[in-house]
Amino acid sequence: MAKQRMLQFVSVTKQMPEKREADQRAHDFQEIYGEFAEAKAEEQAGRCSQCGVPYCHTHCPLHNNIPDWLRLTAEGRLEEAYLLSQETNTFPEICGRICPQDRLCEGNCVIEQSGHGTVTIGAVEKYITDTAWEKGWVKPITPAAERPESVGIIGAGPGGLAAADRLRRAGIQVTVYDRHDRAGGLLTYGIPGFKLEKDIVLRRNAQLEESGVAFVLNCAVGQDITFAEIREKHDAVLIATGVYKSRDLQGPGSGARGIVRAIDYLTVSNRQNFGDSVPEFDSGELNAAGRKVVVIGGGDTAMDCVRTAVRQGAESVKCLYRRDRANMPGSQREVQNAEEEGVIFEWLTAPQGFAGDPVSGVMVQRMRLGAPDATGRQRPEVIEGADYVEEADLVIKALGFEPEDLPALWDEPALEVTRWGTVKADFRSHETALPGVYAVGDIVRGASLVVWAIRDGREAADAILERFDAGQASVAAE
Ligand code: FAD
Ligand code: SF4
Ligand code: SF4
Repeated sequence: MAKQRMLQFVSVTKQMPEKREADQRAHDFQEIYGEFAEAKAEEQAGRCSQCGVPYCHTHCPLHNNIPDWLRLTAEGRLEEAYLLSQETNTFPEICGRICPQDRLCEGNCVIEQSGHGTVTIGAVEKYITDTAWEKGWVKPITPAAERPESVGIIGAGPGGLAAADRLRRAGIQVTVYDRHDRAGGLLTYGIPGFKLEKDIVLRRNAQLEESGVAFVLNCAVGQDITFAEIREKHDAVLIATGVYKSRDLQGPGSGARGIVRAIDYLTVSNRQNFGDSVPEFDSGELNAAGRKVVVIGGGDTAMDCVRTAVRQGAESVKCLYRRDRANMPGSQREVQNAEEEGVIFEWLTAPQGFAGDPVSGVMVQRMRLGAPDATGRQRPEVIEGADYVEEADLVIKALGFEPEDLPALWDEPALEVTRWGTVKADFRSHETALPGVYAVGDIVRGASLVVWAIRDGREAADAILERFDAGQASVAAE
């Protein structure tokens, strides 16, 4: 009788791939988790109970066929697992690394709910596609037939690239414009290497290039080329520009030297790790080495900043957040990683000003959680008379991002935006108020997740294809 490979969760405990020790990993920018060995991946995949109604699948934004590729992995049928996995996810090895699985697939796994510890879905997803790359199963796209229609995509982040991939598979001529010198968006210049090593992103960029996607880099739409010109050149346009306007801090001294924006800090660190020449790093302006660093904010960007500062050799790294641990927006897993690496969290604290120029300290107010606000979250309130000064000579603002004013920057008032400045787009087709112009990812949702940008990009590509199939190719500047 064939060996029962699934439903092993009672006898096999949950295991993640090996995590490097904090004192070892805190000095480099390599990923902190290793890879499953083949037998371990099969064993861990075999813990799945093959639910008839799989909540993991429901709560994955891409509705991945998780139970099926877990079963194929447990049976050692990895190439089939890969083929199935890439049917629904353009970048499975990236999501496997950086999705907040505890809030998505794994957090809703019934094995987790029943107290046995979730099936390690993300780690298996990563393993399947990393193996596919290793074995040469991931190939450049060769469309069955070329089509004449062309699409211009503005923004080479996961939203834009997921759409590029899908359109190219259908034989569409795709050009991706980006203001950076490398494609990948926040995968390349936002997210640090210890969460996502850059080779993983660069090999996807290369795959798309080899598939015939044309990249026009170092090209800021609105400066180097107008939006109207892009509409003229292409039969449809996709806006996937993300959100980059940093929320700012108020209060006395907030303009002092040494107070910097998280996105600038992380971009410079990523550039430095690429081996680029980065004057802001070399001058010490955006380099935490030997500094007393204070990061303000409690989201994933703040977690990436504190952990980057540790790796750059900061003297001390503290994180100020105005709510408590249970109420922070960032992932608990990342807080734990940061604490292991030596970061100190000052919960229930908020800056009210800054001393010195260059900055020498943060004037901090202590907070408590008061009555809930309209959203049901407890509102932080100041505790009078409990102020103190936190020494700091590098302060990193990680308070979130807002959209830039695209209609003004691109001289296109007919591009409708919401009252938050995000681009208005149809929920299903992702078409904007401008015919033939679509929008996806953070510029529509506000700061969100890679997996949602991928989903949007894939859906918008399908809607564009439907448009072309319906014979509406010529939409340029109608
Ligand atoms: P982006 O990735 O922002 O890409 C937009 C691209 O458009 C950029 O390359 C930009 O250069 C380009 N662009 C913008 N304006 C123009 C213009 N005018 N002309 C030409 N090009 C332009 N999500 C997760 O799921 N897991 C994580 O662990 C995670 N960590 C994060 C850490 C940090 C520090 C940050 C900032 C975000 C993180 N996110 C994470 C969120 C995630 O990165 C984003 O939700 C996702 O990248 C959005 O994809 P996008 O394609 O919409 O935009
Ligand atoms: Fe889970 Fe993200 Fe993979 Fe979906 S894409 S299965 S949410 S890790
Ligand atoms: Fe398997 Fe968990 Fe998904 Fe059920 S919810 S199919 S046990 S991974």
